[in-house]
Amino acid sequence: MLHTPSADLIEIFSSLQGEGELLGRRQVFIRFAGCNLDCDYCDTSFISRSLCLVEEDSGSGALVEYENPVPLERVVDLLKLWLKAYPGAHHSISITGGEPLLHAELLEIWLPHLRQLLPISLETNGTLPVALRLIIDHLDYVATDIKLPSVSGQSTDWQAHADFLAIATQAQCSVKVIIGENTTDDELLDAARLVQDVSPSTPMILQPVTRNNRVGVSVPRLLALQALVSAVHPEVLVIPQTHVFLGVK
Ligand code: SF4
Repeated sequence: MLHTPSADLIEIFSSLQGEGELLGRRQVFIRFAGCNLDCDYCDTSFISRSLCLVEEDSGSGALVEYENPVPLERVVDLLKLWLKAYPGAHHSISITGGEPLLHAELLEIWLPHLRQLLPISLETNGTLPVALRLIIDHLDYVATDIKLPSVSGQSTDWQAHADFLAIATQAQCSVKVIIGENTTDDELLDAARLVQDVSPSTPMILQPVTRNNRVGVSVPRLLALQALVSAVHPEVLVIPQTHVFLGVK
């Protein structure tokens, strides 16, 4: 582990996964700084800071500050303490952001060490296929997004999402699509066709937006969108963010 590069991190904490296929699993979350997108609904703090917030006692909610950049050795030592104190409690490590693939070259070095402790899950916006290719061999799970224009406020790079998904399926992969009241049938059908074309067995998760701790899409609209997608891509699940309701990070 000598001379491994240090990372610009936002926070390290232990919590329950509140979204997607690993819903309800307790994970170690390592949140990396920076993102290549600027989504309208973004509620994630990913701006680089001089200090990283760390929950030194897993699950306590009490935070201490580590100076950025954080050395890999410090992260590994922390996680070893957690695994010893709470054997079996953690399912995997969530590498999240921001967009963690902005740090792909560093992750290529870090992940083999972290993976000796727990399986690795990548949470990503699914737009950086070249970066994913660098680290795919070190990943157990990929939770990727397809960003629809009605929700992100940006145009969708469909080709990047397709290229990304083709690589991501080398790990256990799921595709999350956030939907709002303004989501159109056409854009959601484009997403469903893309997933069906590239990987018919990959679950597509429709996640209604959450506003003020409430699901921001009516049930009739949710069911209509579920039916629309199912006709094209039968592997579809509707799962809202649950950590919001549990009051955890
Ligand atoms: S990709 Fe995620 S972290 Fe980046 S701006 Fe969009 S919602 Fe925020």
